[in-house]
Amino acid sequence: MTQFSVNILGCGSASPSSRHQPSCQVVDFRGNLFMIDCGEGAQSQMNRFHLKGNRLAHIFLSHLHGDHVLGLPGLLSTLDLNQKNGSVTIHTFPEGIKILRQITDFFCEYSSFDIIYEPVSHNGGRVFENNALTIDAFPLDHSKPCVGYLFREKEKMRHLNGEMAEFFNIPISQRAAIRAGADFVTPDGQVIDNRRLTFDPDPAVSYAYCSDTRFMPSLAQRLRGVDTIYHEATYDDTKADKAKMRGHSTAGEAAAVARDACAKRLILGHFSKSYHDENIHLQQAKAVFPGEVIIANEGMKIDLL
Ligand SMILES: [Zn+2]
Repeated sequence: MTQFSVNILGCGSASPSSRHQPSCQVVDFRGNLFMIDCGEGAQSQMNRFHLKGNRLAHIFLSHLHGDHVLGLPGLLSTLDLNQKNGSVTIHTFPEGIKILRQITDFFCEYSSFDIIYEPVSHNGGRVFENNALTIDAFPLDHSKPCVGYLFREKEKMRHLNGEMAEFFNIPISQRAAIRAGADFVTPDGQVIDNRRLTFDPDPAVSYAYCSDTRFMPSLAQRLRGVDTIYHEATYDDTKADKAKMRGHSTAGEAAAVARDACAKRLILGHFSKSYHDENIHLQQAKAVFPGEVIIANEGMKIDLL
C-alpha cells in the first residue's frame, strides 16, 4: 500500500467544463483519507477512483466559493446511505460552519456517523496533528478569504542495524527506544552509541495545496523545502492581468513559487475551461521551474514519497 499519495478528483476552475471537475482531491496518508475541497461531483469521483468513504475522516475546505464546497451535501448524504461509521470532521471558516451546519442538520439529521465542525482561522494555523502527521493552514490571496494546507510528515524513526542488534543482543523491549535515538547500555554497563546501532531514517515528506490565489511571492518563503506543491494555474502567462483581477495565478507564477521554495515537484491545477489542453501551462511552468512539473488530471494518483 502506498504510504503517502494524493488523488486528483477535480482540477477544473469554477465554470463547468466537459474536461475537468471542480476542485477536489484526496490525500491518502497510511490508509487514512483526507479530502481537500469538495467540489460538485466529489462523491461520484470517490466512487470512480475506488476511494472508500469509511476511510475518510477529515475534509478541509480552502474557501467558500461554490466550486470548492458544493459537493459536500451529496457526499455526506451518500456516506450516510452507505452506513459509514465513526465521524467526519469538516474544517472551514466560522462563517462556513454557520451555513454548512444548517444544510447538514437538515439533510443528515439521523446520520450514521458524527459530523463535526472545526473552525479554521483566516490567518491559518494548525488544523490537525497525530503521531505521524501535521496539517497547517496558511493564508492565500483570493477574492474571498482563502487558505492553503500544508501536510508534513513528522520525523520518522531511525532504522535498526539488525547485525548490531544481534551482536549486542538488544532485547525487543528496548528496540523502539533505540530507533527513537537512545543509546544502549550492556548488562556490564558499557554504553553503545546510538549511531553504531542505527541508520538514518527515511526523510519526512511534505505536500502543500495552494488554491485559489493570486501570485504570492511570499508563499515561497512559507513553503521553503516542501517536496511537492500543488498550485493553481487557472490561466497561462498571456492572461496575467486577468488572473490578477480575478484572484488567480498563471502557470509561470505558480512555477516561480515552486522554484523559489526549492520544491522538487509542482502539480498544476484549477484550469480555466477556456483551454482545450494544458500544454501551454506545462511549457510555461517548465521554463521557470527546474523540477518536475505535473499537469493534474482527474483520476491521477501521485505518490508523494
Ligand atoms: Zn475561488
